Amino acid sequence: MTLLDVKNIDMHYAQRPFLFQRKQEVPVLQKVSFSLQEGECLGIVGQSGSGKSTLGRIILGIERPTNGELLFQGVNLYEAPSKHKKRIRRDLQAVFQNSYHSFNPKQTIFEILEEPFLNFEHFSKTERQHKVRELLDCVELERAMAQNYPSQLSGGQQQRVNIARALALKPKLIVLDEAISSLDMILQKKIIQLLQTLQKERQLAYIFISHDLQATRFMSDRILVMQHGRLVEEIGKDGAYQHPASQQLYHAILPSHPRERKHKTK
Ligand code: ADP
Ligand code: MG
Repeated sequence: MTLLDVKNIDMHYAQRPFLFQRKQEVPVLQKVSFSLQEGECLGIVGQSGSGKSTLGRIILGIERPTNGELLFQGVNLYEAPSKHKKRIRRDLQAVFQNSYHSFNPKQTIFEILEEPFLNFEHFSKTERQHKVRELLDCVELERAMAQNYPSQLSGGQQQRVNIARALALKPKLIVLDEAISSLDMILQKKIIQLLQTLQKERQLAYIFISHDLQATRFMSDRILVMQHGRLVEEIGKDGAYQHPASQQLYHAILPSHPRERKHKTK
C-alpha cells in the first residue's frame, strides 16, 4: 500500500545573489514527484546542495513547499485538521546527521527517551521506565546507559539513542538525513544492520538521504538521484543507471586501493 505521495513539489527560497543586492526567489526544488510504499526503503542521493535536506524537511512537515501536494496515507499533510496532523507527527520521525546537537546536553538518556511518551501518551513513571528499557534493548544499548548524559556516549551510541527516540512512538516512516555520514565505516555498517533488522521487525519505511551512493545502495530498495533540485533518475534493484549525475556520484567513490585508482584512470 502507498504510504507517501509526493506530488509536484516546488520550493523557492529568497536568496541574495551578492552582498547588498536585492533578494531573489531561487528555486531549490522543482516538480519533485514520487511515491513510497509501506515498509520500503527509498534512497535519495545527490551532491551537496542538490536539495535533499530541503525535501526531507518538507516531507517531515517542518517546512511548507511553495507548490505541490504531500499525501501521507492519502491525507494532505499541510491541509489536514489538527487531529490528523498529530497522528501523522507520530507516524513520521527523523534522524539527522549531527547526533549530539539534537540532544539537550543537560538531559540524561532516560529523560531524552521518555520525552515522546510525556508528549504523546499518558503513561505512569513505571510505564515510562519500562518503555525506555525496551527502547534501549531495541538499539542494543546497555540499560544502565539511561543514567548517562549524551556527552558521555560515543558518536555511534549517540546515534543509537537518536534511532531509539525516533522509534518510541512506533512510526510508519523514518527520514534518515545523512544519519550515518559522520560515523566511521565499521559503525556505519553496524547501524545499517540495526536499521534493516528494525525495518523487518516493524514493517518500517525509510527515506535514506545521503551523498554516499555506496551506503545508499547497501540500504535501499530503490534510489532516486537528485541534481539541482530535480529528480533526474531512478536506480532500481538491478543497479543500472545512465544519467551523468549518477555516474558522477558513482565515480566519486574512492577505490579501496590506490593501485586500483591508477588502473581505472588510465
Ligand atoms: P543538500 O541537503 O542536498 O545538501 P539542501 O536542501 O540543504 O541541499 O540545500 C539546497 C539549496 O537550498 C542550497 O543552495 C541551500 O543554500 C538552499 N537553502 C536551503 N535551506 C535554505 C533556507 N532556509 N534559506 C535559503 N536557502 C536555503
Ligand atoms: Mg543535506
